[in-house]
Amino acid sequence: MELHSLIKKAEMTHELTEEELTLLLSASEAEEEMAEAADRVRKEYVGDAVHLRGLIEFSSYCRRNCMYCGLRRENENARRYRLSPEEILTLAKKAVDYGYHTVVLQSGEDIWFTVERLVPIIKQIKAMGVAVTLSIGERSREEYAAFREAGADRFLIRIETTDRELYERLDPGMSFDERCRCINDIKDLGYEVGTGCLIGLPGQSVESLARDILFFKSIDADMVGIGPLIPNPETPLGDVPIGDIGITRRMVSAIRLLLPEANIPATTAMETLLPHKGRELILRSGANVVMPNVTEGEAREKYALYPGKACVLDTPAHCRTCMETRIKAIGRFIGEDAGFRKHKR
Ligand code: SAH
Ligand code: SF4
Repeated sequence: MELHSLIKKAEMTHELTEEELTLLLSASEAEEEMAEAADRVRKEYVGDAVHLRGLIEFSSYCRRNCMYCGLRRENENARRYRLSPEEILTLAKKAVDYGYHTVVLQSGEDIWFTVERLVPIIKQIKAMGVAVTLSIGERSREEYAAFREAGADRFLIRIETTDRELYERLDPGMSFDERCRCINDIKDLGYEVGTGCLIGLPGQSVESLARDILFFKSIDADMVGIGPLIPNPETPLGDVPIGDIGITRRMVSAIRLLLPEANIPATTAMETLLPHKGRELILRSGANVVMPNVTEGEAREKYALYPGKACVLDTPAHCRTCMETRIKAIGRFIGEDAGFRKHKR
C-alpha cells in the first residue's frame, strides 16, 4: 500500500500493522501528511483545548542508574536536592493560582519519600481541588495502592522501549518484566496510565518503535509521552547522536492516529531541540497537552535529566503567560477542566 493510503487507513480505522507503522515511521516524505491527519483526529476526538499540567520536580535523588539520565546514581556531578513537604505544597498552591488543573509530582526514584511522607502531600494537594499525577518510578503494588487511596489520579511511567534486551542494557539492574508489572498494577488500581518511550536509543530500530506504539495501544494507554534522547555528557551515553526530530514527530502523529483518545504531551525535550517552536510543532502534529514547569529557584536548574533543558532560566509565572500566548497563536485554547481522558468510542 502506498504511504497516502496507509495514512488514510490509519485516520479512518485507527489500526495499522507493525509493518505498516514501520513504513510510515521510516518515510520522512510522509511527515506533513501524517501530521495533518493526526491534527484532524486530535480535533475530532479531544478538541482544540490544550491541557496544562503544572510540573513540580521535587527530588533529584535517584536509586537507579539509567544510562541516558543525568540523575543516575553514579553521576557524581549531579546536584542533588530534595524539596521539603512544605516547599512542595507551596509550589502546588502556586500552580493552582496560575490556573493549572493538574499538579504533576515528578522525581528520581527517591525512596526517602515513603508512603508515610508522600500520602499527606498528595492529600493536601487534592484538597486544593486539582488532579494529581505521580511520576516517581517503580514502587510496590501496596505503595501504588496507598497513593491512589490518598487521591492520586494518574501515573506517568514510560516503558522507555519495548525492546526487552535494549531496556535491560540501558537501565542496568532494572527488569522489563518488573516495569510491565508496575504499569499493570497502576492500571489495575484505577489510575489513568501515562507511558511512552525515548526516541534514538542506541540500537533501537524503527520496527521496535512501531512495536512501542502497538504496546501503547494494547494496554489502552490514557496518556503517551515521547521525546527524543538528548545525550547527557555526564552519562555513559554522552556521545550518542541526539534523537531524530523527524522520527519523533512522526511517532507523535502515529500515536494520535492509532490512539485517538489519548492525552499526548508536547514534551520539553522537543522544545529543547527546537527552541521557541518545538511545542507548537508537536501540538500541531497530534499533541494536546503541555506540562509547564512550576519548580522554582535552584531546584529548577538542578533537575538535569539532560543538558540545555528548555525554559530552565525562566520563572514559572513567565512560563504561564508564554504558554497562553503560544497556544492562542496557533488557534487553540487552554483547557478549563482537569483534562481527564474522554471515552468517545
Ligand atoms: N524517575 C522517574 C521519573 C523521572 S525521569 C522515571 O524514570 O520514571 C522522566 C523521563 O525522563 C524518563 O522516563 C526518560 O524517558 C526521560 N529522560 C531521562 N533522561 C533523558 C535524556 N537524556 N533525554 C531525554 N529524555 C530523558
Ligand atoms: Fe532515575 Fe528516572 Fe533518571 Fe532512570 S530516568 S536514572 S529512574 S530519574
